[in-house]
Amino acid sequence: MSATILDGKALAKTMQAEIAAGVAELLRTHGVRPGLAAVLVGDNPASRIYVRNKVKACELVGIASFRHELPATTTQAELLDLVARLNADPAVHGILVQLPLPKHIHEAAVVDAVSPLKDVDGFGPESLGLLAAGRPRFLACTPAGVQQLLLRNGIDPAGKHVVIVGRSNIVGKPLSLILMQKGPGCDATVTVCHSRTPDIGAVTRSADVIVMAIGSPKFLRAEMVRPGAVVVDVGMNRLADGSLCGDADFAAVKEVASAISPVPGGVGPMTITMLLSNTLRSARLRLGLL
Ligand code: NAP
Repeated sequence: MSATILDGKALAKTMQAEIAAGVAELLRTHGVRPGLAAVLVGDNPASRIYVRNKVKACELVGIASFRHELPATTTQAELLDLVARLNADPAVHGILVQLPLPKHIHEAAVVDAVSPLKDVDGFGPESLGLLAAGRPRFLACTPAGVQQLLLRNGIDPAGKHVVIVGRSNIVGKPLSLILMQKGPGCDATVTVCHSRTPDIGAVTRSADVIVMAIGSPKFLRAEMVRPGAVVVDVGMNRLADGSLCGDADFAAVKEVASAISPVPGGVGPMTITMLLSNTLRSARLRLGLL
């Protein structure tokens, strides 16, 4: 068997066209253009590329973007001051502070300072708390992208055993909360594995859907996958030859799984798309349309 490829690049294109239509309609009916502020501190090359891609994606769908690039020497007080100004700016519906921040800045203090009504990354404590309480406002972008990649490929998590490997605050943990919600697109039976889980293969072999999010190249081998299971690979690992690979051994696992997302071109493009979707959602929420 060779698996169906869960093509995040193609789905992102489709969804971005839908978002562009939503943005145009909001502008036509309410005269409001959603706006995203992207804040980059320091000169981490990967972060710079991420911010550039996010700003470019905004432009493509008609979302206004406000880029703030600050030097690595920026103090925490200066950064908090910028966040406060963005919180108060009516043209800004979403605030994205690109992580990681330089070491002298307390990341949690900055994440906590972003207005919960503009927390389009969905990392803040209020966003996560609302999700845990079963009434989400903004879903964290990567987990929301994983959910859409499943649903839009006709894979409904309802009643399925989903095993998530990785429990970070930005991927594994919020994804577990999303998929265990009651209601459409959710209702999964979720198991979360991490570095203290003995014999991860024994757990993944019992899964209908496996989501890999640990950052360990080719960790998931074919024998860890039940024939016919679905594999979503969030991992992004740079190999010595410069190429990117996921947390699954793609070539081997695709012969066992019924569907698998590639790296690159799987979850990555979906993450940006969900950021755009959250920014449009924020503008609609402010107008009382949702
Ligand atoms: P992270 O914060 O470093 O968390 C890694 C998680 O994996 C932790 O829960 C850790 O367990 C677990 N883990 C690490 N090694 C393990 C092992 N050998 N066996 C079992 N569990 C293990 O990472 P992250 O930010 O969630 O990112 C995970 C991966 O996804 C990375 O490759 C990252 O680049 C990628 N990513 C991709 C996107 C995208 O848009 N495509 C977005 C975000 C992240 P403990 O909690 O026990 O330490």
